[in-house]
Formats: sequence, C-alpha cells, structure tokens
Amino acid sequence: MHNKTIAEIARDLRNKQYSSVELTRHFLDRIQQHQELNAFVSVADEHALGQAEAADKALAAGDAPLLTGIPIGQKDIFCTRGIKTSCGSKMLDNFESPYDATVVEKFKQNGAVMPGKLNMDEFAMGSSNETSFYGAVRNPWNVDCVPGGSSGGSAAAVAARLVPAATGTDTGGSIRQPSSLCGITGLKPTYGRVSRYGMIAFASSLDQAGPMTRNAEDAAILLQAMAGFDGKDSTSVEQDVPDYRAELNNSLQGLKIGIPKEFFSSDLNADIAAVVNSAIAEYQKLGAELVEVSIPSLNQSIPVYYVIAPAECSANLSRFDGVRFGYRCENPQDLADLYTRSRGEGFGAEVKRRILMGTYALSAGYYDAYYLKAQKIRRMISEDFKKALSQADVLMGPVSPSTAFGIGEKTGDPIEMYLSDIYTIGVNLAGLPGMSVPAGFVDNKPVGLQIIGDYFAESRLLNVAHQFQQVTDWHQQIPQGFE
Ligand code: GLN
Repeated sequence: MHNKTIAEIARDLRNKQYSSVELTRHFLDRIQQHQELNAFVSVADEHALGQAEAADKALAAGDAPLLTGIPIGQKDIFCTRGIKTSCGSKMLDNFESPYDATVVEKFKQNGAVMPGKLNMDEFAMGSSNETSFYGAVRNPWNVDCVPGGSSGGSAAAVAARLVPAATGTDTGGSIRQPSSLCGITGLKPTYGRVSRYGMIAFASSLDQAGPMTRNAEDAAILLQAMAGFDGKDSTSVEQDVPDYRAELNNSLQGLKIGIPKEFFSSDLNADIAAVVNSAIAEYQKLGAELVEVSIPSLNQSIPVYYVIAPAECSANLSRFDGVRFGYRCENPQDLADLYTRSRGEGFGAEVKRRILMGTYALSAGYYDAYYLKAQKIRRMISEDFKKALSQADVLMGPVSPSTAFGIGEKTGDPIEMYLSDIYTIGVNLAGLPGMSVPAGFVDNKPVGLQIIGDYFAESRLLNVAHQFQQVTDWHQQIPQGFE
C-alpha cells in the first residue's frame, strides 16, 4: 500500500481493495517502525483512525471527495485544533491551537486523514532540519545526512513512504530544497495562491504553503485541495482555481525553456550540473526548445533575503513573549525578566540570530540603509525574473548547490548554511511558483531539477513535471530499507 500514489490509493479505496482504516493503520505502523528518522513531532493515532472510520462511511455512501480516507502529513507549522502545534520550537512545545489553519480545514473538508505533525526547522528557519527543538531529521537515502529544511520531516516522511504525501512551506526554498535532497516532488505555489491563515508566520511577504508528494499528479491533487481565496488572509489572491490535472497530459512540443545563465556559472558543482543538464536534454527529446536568459540580480538574492526575512520574523515573533503563547520561564522577578527569560529560554540559537539581525535592520538610522535598500533590490530581482519569463514558458536549473550533506557538517557556519538556498530564494522574493522534480542521483543521493513558472502558472509547471515523469523513473526510486 505504501508504494502507491494518491491517485492509485483513491482508486483502490473505491474498489474496496482495502479500507481507509486498514490503510491508515498501515501508515501508522510504518511511522512507528521508522522513528529513527525523527520525521514526526506528534503522531495522532486516535484522531487519524477516527477520521479513517468516518472516511470509510463516506466512501461507502459514494460521492466522497478524492482525498477521502488518504493520510496526509501536516508540517508542524500549521495550526491543528486538539493536536500540538510546535513549529519545531521549545517556545510552542506546550501549544494547542484553538482553531485549524485554513489548509488543515481544507484537507478535512476533502476527507483526508491527518496521521500526525511533521518535524521542521524551528519556526521554519533553516536548510537542514537541524534547528528543530526536537532534533535533526534523518534522510532516508542516507541516515547520516540531513533531509534538507525547513520542511525536512515532510520530505523524509514522503520519501520513506511513512505517508503518501505531506504539506510543506517555502519561504526561501523550504519545499523545493528538501524535496531535492530526498528525491520527491515539491511545489511552491505563487505567493497568495494558498491561504496563510493559521500557518505560523516566519516572513509574511515570502511564506507560501504547498504540496510535497511522490509525483506531479499527486502534487496537482493536493494543490487542488489547498489552493483558493481565503477572506481570513489579506494576502490571499482572489483568483479562480483551475483544474490542476486538466493540463497534465499536454504535449511539450515547442515549449520554450529558459536557461538562466547565472544558474550554471562555474560555481555549480559539476556532478549536479550533469544531472540537471541531462534532465534538460530529456525535455529537448520531448520537443522543448532552449533559450538562454539572464537574471543578473540573482547573486543579490541571498543578502536581500537575509535582510527582509529576519526583519519580518523579528516583528512576527514578537508575539511570543511568555504572556500570550507558549513557553514561560520559571519564577519571573518582574515583567522585563519574564519577557527576556521566556524568550531567551524558549527560542533556539538560529531564531535568536534572525531576530537580532532583523531588529537591527529595522532600527532607526539603519532602516534606509538595509531594509529599504533590500526592498529596492527585491524589486529588481522580480523584474529580472519577469523579463526572463517573457522570453520563455518556464525556467530550469538546479534546486540546491549540493546533495544531502552530513548531519552537523554545516551547523557551525550559518553563512555556509544560508548558501544552500542560492537557487531557490529569488523565486520567493519574486513571488513566483517553483517546483523540484527528481532528476537523478549523485553518489546515491537524489538531485532535483528546478522548474520555475510565471505567476499562477502552476498548471503549466505540473504539466512540465508530469511529462518528464512519464519518460523517467527517478521519482519512483525507493530508498533502501523503506521498500
Ligand atoms: N533556508 C531558508 C532559511 O533558513 C529558507 C527557509 C524556508 O523556506 N522556510 O530561511
């Protein structure tokens, strides 16, 4: 059961090959058997089995939504009523949300089963899942390596077949980079496509939720459930949601693929370049044409992001003060002591580093020099992407400069860690959709191909990814020990 895609499981459930309760039990058992990966922060057995029973009834009654009875893991950044929402932080280790995030609510409406909450970097800050209060997640392809981050629990769980699919969030690469490092399919939608309501905010102008699945068809099915206008999120875009599976089988004859030359500079690791280039060659066989394009401002994206994201996070995280949410220190002497010790003890080192950077960038006298300047360069980056996308239908390149690296290898050097997102962050700054699609291996570790599209062109991206998956089997590879 665990090697089937969502589309296949949906069919099996309707053909009564197994029930949702059997399916859910099977995945809960696998989650239990593979605790060594540390992919889950909470497992919600009873909750999931209750949902599965209800799903079986709905399936028997007929006309149940496609996701009915299918277990979907939720990144622990989404608020879930009745189940702890920690966001990977000690600060929220005792937090139970009184309401569901819109994404969670939508999965419920679609009949999905929620088996548990997935581990992540603390407040989604990181590229390796090592900043989690609950410890590092292990990559099923090599358990001494990281799964990437911040949606590392989601990526590891999908790759290891502990769930058929999961949600992630991507502020600077956190869906695409772990998808690349774990050999799964991940889609970061256009900013505003999926509601951020109830998704704990990191950097509000960048955060976007999306599906993490085994293939593009499943990503289309999940996005269908997640996308749509939400009056509770002021940045949610009021635009119709298309049928994301309708274009999957369109031919790629004449597709124009833009190759940003900055993605293929001499800095790019030769083995990764070889995988990405052979994937692009596969597209040429499918009838696509290549056009060289340029994103001259791309090398500014990391410094710009590390001004804007910390600035926004310093404001968003000010609510965690020991009074309103989560962790409170023991025996505070006075109010200042309560604030400082609750925050000092509740947040981990990376989160504190970001709050310090952000507060500094926003402080009087520095605002113009850092934050305002970063916003101007952000506009330039968007314009460069827009220009490139006016010359091509999609852009392609690498997702990550390296394959999965060793646990502990980069924790001592934050800048080295920040460089993990060199190819993904520009897409967030521009608000564009991007995907990671399994494209090969280097030393038995997966490598993803990044596909970037125009605003709201998710159907196109899914079509481009799906066609590749019809002629390759990288997405069907299973890590050893998880067959
Ligand atoms: N790795 C980046 C960071 O640490 C991006 C994280 C994300 O997309 N949530 O901020």
